[in-house]
Amino acid sequence: MAKDEARKAAEAASETHKEAHRRRMAEIRQCALCDTYGYLNGRLCYHDPSAEERTARGVAKARAALRGTTQQEEPAYQNNNEGRRP
Ligand SMILES: [Zn+2]
Repeated sequence: MAKDEARKAAEAASETHKEAHRRRMAEIRQCALCDTYGYLNGRLCYHDPSAEERTARGVAKARAALRGTTQQEEPAYQNNNEGRRP
């Protein structure tokens, strides 16, 4: 009885896994961006043509923010050095 239930649960899990795999393969087939493994430029594809643009915009924003932080901190650091003469 318990063995039978465990087998049924394993089969159900296997079916869920197979179904997820089938869905993923269908998405990959329909996507014009990625290769047959679902990769785009070495990264997992979102199968969304606008995702690449959003990512590029996010990276640009992050870089701008980092540049802004660096520019604000550098003068303060230089001022501290000038004030601390040996
Ligand atoms: Zn794709």
